[in-house]
Amino acid sequence: MKGLMQDWSLVCHRIIDHAAIQYGKRKVVSRSIEGPIVETNYAEIRKRALKVAQRLVKDGIKPGDRVGTLAWNTWRHLEAWYGILGAGAVYHTVNPRLFPDQLIYIINHGGDRVMMTDLTFVPLLEKIADKLPAIERYVILTDRAHLPQTTLKNAVAYEDWIGEVDGNFKWVAVDENDAAGMCYTSGTTGNPKGVVYSHRSNVLHSLAAAMPDVLGLSSHDIVLPVVPLFHANSWSLAFSAPMNGAALIMPGAKLDGASVYELLDKYQVTVTAAVPTVWLMLLAHLEQHNLKLPHLERVLIGGSACPRAMMEKFQDKYDVRVTHAWGMTEMSPIGTAGQLKPEVASLGHDAKLDVQEKQGYSLFTVEMKITDDNNKELPWDGKTFGRLKVKGVAVASSYFKGEGGNILDKDGFFDTGDVATIDELGYMKITDRAKDVIKSGGEWISSIDIENIAVGHPDVAEAAVIGIVHPKWDERPLLIIIPKKDKKISKADLLKFMEGKIAKWWMPDDVIFVDEIPHTATGKILKTALREQFRDYRLPTATAAE
Ligand code: ADP
Repeated sequence: MKGLMQDWSLVCHRIIDHAAIQYGKRKVVSRSIEGPIVETNYAEIRKRALKVAQRLVKDGIKPGDRVGTLAWNTWRHLEAWYGILGAGAVYHTVNPRLFPDQLIYIINHGGDRVMMTDLTFVPLLEKIADKLPAIERYVILTDRAHLPQTTLKNAVAYEDWIGEVDGNFKWVAVDENDAAGMCYTSGTTGNPKGVVYSHRSNVLHSLAAAMPDVLGLSSHDIVLPVVPLFHANSWSLAFSAPMNGAALIMPGAKLDGASVYELLDKYQVTVTAAVPTVWLMLLAHLEQHNLKLPHLERVLIGGSACPRAMMEKFQDKYDVRVTHAWGMTEMSPIGTAGQLKPEVASLGHDAKLDVQEKQGYSLFTVEMKITDDNNKELPWDGKTFGRLKVKGVAVASSYFKGEGGNILDKDGFFDTGDVATIDELGYMKITDRAKDVIKSGGEWISSIDIENIAVGHPDVAEAAVIGIVHPKWDERPLLIIIPKKDKKISKADLLKFMEGKIAKWWMPDDVIFVDEIPHTATGKILKTALREQFRDYRLPTATAAE
């Protein structure tokens, strides 16, 4: 027997329709690329997104065509986002922090026909445009007064371009399983691969992500997504904020501590989200100027592990609750979030932090398991490490154009490439990327655990750990440190600080102090580059062992 309910298709433009109807006046405030702060609201965003859709159709964009965006978080980017998918086309958010060769690869592989770009990236695009033959037109997200002289093909100012239509338009009809968006994985190894989100997966992921035990969004929230739209749907916020009527404060191109603080304070932001590197800048700014965060209630931290010291600072010093989350581009991206279940909510200060340091438990719509190399499931005891595999309604089933072949195991699970433990309560803890764990004497050492402890030292700004070849143990950990500005730390001092906090055999064999640690385009430590840089490095213990 079949259910007798209506078939209300899960298409993304329903989100902005709902926002305009129920929360039309809720603000969307942006730091524009041109400089001034610009205020609009969901009703206006929808109106102008309809114009974008209408204008794209007028340019011959057909359902399924890809439209690229190379842009910061602003109201115009949000309009473009909803306009593109409302035209039945596929938004392809490109990460401008990638190297030019990667950009060329991604834009061509994605087959983008139109590129909508911020002023910031016009010079960058001009340099590579002759290698992007499929792009028919560049829409610069600005008005005529700010449009620069440019060699970009058919370049037009966004405001002029949408000004050519009246907005009297209906969203192009699509099936909920049609593609809505596309985002390439960072590709720290091999070529980047395209993840293709469907309307249905986006809608369901946003519903799941907004639930109280995940992001917990409501129309009372004022959300500052520092995490960019090009970083996996800004962790669902581009959908889940309008869906729930939360106001949006868009930071534009300025993500430094002072600029982020200014918006948090001025617009009384209640929820914000970004990778740890952004928060390092904010916390440094707060400390330097002795500032407080009286309005901010919650900060969502993910993309790489949130150091314990960062959690303590937010929670104890600024009274801002940290939600540690984990996910990946292939998961739309949220997989787990670290709210405190009742079983752990009344633990003491340090025990609670132990729980929060884990990456959290899976949200509804995501299943997870840990396995050994033979796909045998491992116990959820909080100790046993295994390959973390996931399955769910917003998890990739394959990459664009079949790159990488079959990516699911025989039970339909996707191997995340992460190594993790899961405890009895379901809290998952990433112990490493499979390729970054240090294999010492047949046992695994978590580089992330060591990094987290090292950054707890008051004079350490950033820490990275990589495995260095060792004649006796195969690999041993090397700790690479950036000291805080004007601080000097010695190797002995640092090792003493770490003593007792990790197992003896996990202690780094050497410590090196540097001025810079390379990062990926999404703000993670670029371990491949570090491994290359220190390829010929000899540990003092290696010489001793020979
Ligand atoms: P991105 O666009 O963020 O680089 P990826 O999909 O390439 O997205 O990265 C996903 C990976 O980032 C995960 O597989 C995991 O290794 C890492 N990651 C994400 N969140 C966390 C977290 N909270 N703690 C540790 N690692 C994380």
